Amino acid sequence: PVADEFRCYSEIIPRYRIEAQIGEGAFSKVFRALDTVRNEEIAIKIIDKSSMTIQQINGILKEIAIMSKLDHENIVKLLAYKNSSNSRYCYLFLELVQGGEIFNQIIKYTYFSEDLSRHVIVQVVRSIKYLHEQVGVVHRDIKPENLLFVPIPVVPTPVHEQRRRQSDDANKLDEGKFKVNVGAGGIGTVKLADFGLSKVLWDRNTNTPCGTVGYTAPEIVKDEYYSKSVDVWAIGCVLYTLLCGFPPFYDTDPRNLAEKVSKGEYCFLSPWWDEISKEAKDLVSNLLTLDPSKRYTLDEILQHPWILQNSQITEPAF
Ligand code: ADP
Ligand code: MG
Repeated sequence: PVADEFRCYSEIIPRYRIEAQIGEGAFSKVFRALDTVRNEEIAIKIIDKSSMTIQQINGILKEIAIMSKLDHENIVKLLAYKNSSNSRYCYLFLELVQGGEIFNQIIKYTYFSEDLSRHVIVQVVRSIKYLHEQVGVVHRDIKPENLLFVPIPVVPTPVHEQRRRQSDDANKLDEGKFKVNVGAGGIGTVKLADFGLSKVLWDRNTNTPCGTVGYTAPEIVKDEYYSKSVDVWAIGCVLYTLLCGFPPFYDTDPRNLAEKVSKGEYCFLSPWWDEISKEAKDLVSNLLTLDPSKRYTLDEILQHPWILQNSQITEPAF
């Protein structure tokens, strides 16, 4: 059955041997594949344009144009792209990020230690700093599903085994909650993916805001500033989620959720937040600040005591 599905992608089959599906979106599927020419595994995002609107197709062109400009170790690299000869499919050939989504690691481990959360968030901030300052692009879709990671081997020791068993027991008592430290998460380099919603704000060549002429309304000019701060808000949501295992804003009813977000209504829910340091909470509060002009900048994040604090990892992994 798998082979059947791949038949419609036959144009790329001669060079790329599709091995497994690793992701799926509304219009796209992502596969792990072997590039038989370079003898290297890559990811191929196959977008089916047949049921997309003109705007959505333009969105892909923008995603490609933006990704082609990017070169940063914390951002997934676009290696090449092409259209199928009937133009139905668009193929994005991407650097394969073997570990998959940070999202799945949160599900697997329930929540991360402060050290592991810092390890992840610092890399996300670096990728966004590069995007905002070097390229003039806002991502606008930062979330654990779009953060991928390169796995690092975790070598279990008897101590780790014992701790894992203990936490399994604790699990049963504490509804499956246990935290994972640096090392145990097996998270090396974190890479930002999915530029499907990203937007160019700043023209790198002319160093001017995009499309600004003398008649532009002030809210458009201010737009650049506000747009950047949406990524900071999202970083705050990610950091909150890493630390406790659930998002700051949640409601099964989308209208209620929108209401909570627009009021910035969140709390450090007990007992989950009880043991988390006040420095971490302080940073989260400064990211989830309703007024974008008071919200932290990327540099303020990097200078925050919680980020700068020397992580002493005496018990690395279990
Ligand atoms: P969508 O716009 O449909 O969300 P994404 O680009 O986010 O598409 O890809 C969907 C999923 O596919 C990702 O969340 C991730 O799990 C997986 N994926 C995408 N690109 C890669 C990659 N380069 N390496 C590994 N997994 C990837
Ligand atoms: Mg995505």
